[in-house]
Amino acid sequence: MAPVVVLIDESKAPMEALTLGRTFGSPLHSVRMDAIQPFAPDAIAAVLALAADELGASAVLAAGTDRGNEVMARLAARTGLPFAANCIAAEPGDPVRVVRQRWGGSLIETALLRGPRALITVAPHTVRVTDGPSPIDVDLKSYMARIEPTDLVVQVKDHIDAAGGGVSLAEAKVVVSGGRGVGSKEGFAIIEELAGLLGAAVGCSRVVTSAGWRPHSDQVGQTGTKISPDLYIACGISGATQHMAGCKGAKRILAINADAEAPIMQNADYAVVGDLKEIVPAISAEIRKIK
Ligand SMILES: Cc1cc2nc3c(=O)[nH]c(=O)nc-3n(C[C@H](O)[C@H](O)[C@H](O)COP(=O)(O)OP(=O)(O)OC[C@H]3O[C@@H](n4cnc5c(N)ncnc54)[C@H](O)[C@@H]3O)c2cc1C
Repeated sequence: MAPVVVLIDESKAPMEALTLGRTFGSPLHSVRMDAIQPFAPDAIAAVLALAADELGASAVLAAGTDRGNEVMARLAARTGLPFAANCIAAEPGDPVRVVRQRWGGSLIETALLRGPRALITVAPHTVRVTDGPSPIDVDLKSYMARIEPTDLVVQVKDHIDAAGGGVSLAEAKVVVSGGRGVGSKEGFAIIEELAGLLGAAVGCSRVVTSAGWRPHSDQVGQTGTKISPDLYIACGISGATQHMAGCKGAKRILAINADAEAPIMQNADYAVVGDLKEIVPAISAEIRKIK
């Protein structure tokens, strides 16, 4: 079997890429995204290209995170190799057959990759992680020495921490989200309060980010973050397809909505029909009593 290279980043998602990578061959090699600091996607792509060539890899896989997809897109551009993003399954062969998410997961596509090496990212939360041999860390020293100055033109210069919270939306076990029904930026105080009591992350719909009530980093959906918490509490959110694309990985959905006919009610495990401005503080009050 031919070797496989997997790009490892700081998230849990690369474990899914490792699991899928094991079906492509062995030995499995890993390149660490944080080997190059600060994050410089072209430089990592250059290192990946060199390592995959030298190892004769049949495939290069990465997590379908923002950074994983960015690095792999740059790798595809510089090598001309076929790249499939957001895969949920893949079968090695010639051609390689992949099943992948399109349009935020509302369409599942089967595609064939023809070429000497398949480049694949794995849609987060879609592959069940299984145990297997650990990958061999690629020694990057000789490759790093061959990075061109142009590979370092794009790099992260600064980090600005998101305000408040501290619980990552993508990894949170519980997410409390607000939509247009919350009514205003200030209206999110009751959403934040409930999230605080539950140790949850705060999320929102795109209407909310477009209105400037919350930062884009809080947006759940096709063009926001894809989440898979144990519990998703959606307050004043109608449940548009593009929103559901981001939260359909949730194990349970509790919808609080004034409209019993809102689309989200069809997808909810628990539904409360009523005014969220009364219901959300009432839930918080009950939790306080228990605490
Ligand atoms: C290309 C594209 C990408 C998109 N990507 C995303 C995305 O990533 N994420 C996303 O969320 N959207 C996305 N959208 C937008 C999406 O189509 C919807 O417009 C959006 O999700 C609606 O947000 P909402 O549910 O907050 O608002 P609305 O659809 O207006 O729903 C508001 C809900 O609040 C309820 N409500 C009102 N007042 C109260 C109250 N007092 N108490 C309880 N309930 C109340 C109403 O009954 C209603 O169901 C995208 C759209 C496009 C075209």
